[in-house]
Amino acid sequence: MADTTDVINPAKISEVVGRVRMATEADVDHALDQAQAAFQTWSRTTPEERASRLCDAARDLRSALPELTRLFVRENGKPLREAEIDIRRSIELTEIVAKDLPQWSKPELIEPDQPVWARRRARGVAAVISPWNSPVLLSFKRFIPAIGAGNTAVVKPATYCPLTLVRCVEIINRHLPSGVLQALIGSGAVAGEKLASDKRVRTIAFTGSTETGRRIMELASRSVKKVFLELGGNDPAIVSSDAKLDEDAIARMTHGILRASGQVCVAIKRIYVHHSRLNELVEKLARSFDRVVVGNGLIPETTMGPLNNRAQFDFVTGLIDRCTQKGLVVMTKGRKLFPPAWNEGFFVLPSIVLGAGEDDELVRCEQFGPVIPVVPFVNEHDAIERANNTPYGLRASVWTADRHRAEALADQIEAGAVFLNDHGIFSNLHIEFPGIKQSGFSRESRWAALDHYTDTYGFAE
Ligand code: NAD
Repeated sequence: MADTTDVINPAKISEVVGRVRMATEADVDHALDQAQAAFQTWSRTTPEERASRLCDAARDLRSALPELTRLFVRENGKPLREAEIDIRRSIELTEIVAKDLPQWSKPELIEPDQPVWARRRARGVAAVISPWNSPVLLSFKRFIPAIGAGNTAVVKPATYCPLTLVRCVEIINRHLPSGVLQALIGSGAVAGEKLASDKRVRTIAFTGSTETGRRIMELASRSVKKVFLELGGNDPAIVSSDAKLDEDAIARMTHGILRASGQVCVAIKRIYVHHSRLNELVEKLARSFDRVVVGNGLIPETTMGPLNNRAQFDFVTGLIDRCTQKGLVVMTKGRKLFPPAWNEGFFVLPSIVLGAGEDDELVRCEQFGPVIPVVPFVNEHDAIERANNTPYGLRASVWTADRHRAEALADQIEAGAVFLNDHGIFSNLHIEFPGIKQSGFSRESRWAALDHYTDTYGFAE
């Protein structure tokens, strides 16, 4: 008999949001058979037909937005506003891909004299494996271009919060032939490994930790799959001596650190500040952290929800304890929305840590929680060296009033994207830059994402 697992509300751990059946290897096998069979007909549909089906799906998802948002808050913990942004962006992405499809799929004349055309062909079954911190948007970013380009897809979200994604897939499936898109809930060890190693999977898109990414790459190599990896990060923010630390800048910095309780691959995870501005920055950041209201994401007053799961809660609280034991200064700020229910959820108040050095665990690891080390530097060369002293290279930010200085710093920071006086996401969904170093590689912006799920072949007249 297959195992089941309970999906828990992280703001009230006694509440089971849903009980799900864990996929066995046989379930994955069956799903891949279905996906392979569906590919035969789906890959022959026109881009216009696929676009039209995706538009219909997006319309239904829009009507279900309030229901999806609330479910997402209950299983993930994010405050309502942040959860809604994730779902909205997933829907927008579906619409954008639908709009792009007819133009993108046109053959391209690459040599007029002979002439030679570049034509695209869908690859087959795509597997999408996603993490718990942002399971909806990060899955949509992969499977929507995959099925839009004519592939079929099997999606495996993490088991901590799979329900909203599964509900979205049900809604989308009202508009797709059977087998084109399937969601499977299962463990990494069973369902994940099977997807990464099965020969029928031609493309694998993984978002998650660097450690798992390595394993997936290894398994995928056996059948030479096309691999897409978006992995962990330890984003630095460098605050220069001339940084403008007004209220807006501090609000943007706070958001860059504490969005989704810090459980964001592209959150600020280390701050290096010019020593002349250390006290001012810490004072202002502490004041801003003090305005954070930690509670159940369903209550509108909440500005920061709980951590998502027990393992993450134990890791982050343990990390903070170890900082205190080492004698680092831990400044804990913020307000508990409802103190009597504090221990009923995985709640953690935000903290600023002073006195940490390069070798300290908090500076080296990906904390994925609301605790940030602030480390002073004397010269910028030293700050860059420390910022680059990590296996990761997702994003970074520079905080300065001097645009030229910002560009000079950005040129030296090893990151997929560098933000000036901000640290966040690109507001336009068309724009995305992949991580570098051990943060992975991928192109997920617009046509690049569609290209990823296709083979280009030449046609010479
Ligand atoms: P994780 O690597 O533990 O798990 C991610 C997914 O992989 C889950 O669905 C899990 O079940 C599956 N998995 C685990 N072991 C597997 C295996 N051996 N074979 C196949 N699949 C396996 O990561 P997580 O804890 O869910 O997520 C947090 C991590 O994800 C952080 O490191 C974070 O930075 C990273 N992340 C990266 C991005 C990005 O775009 N770069 C975005 C979000 C999260």
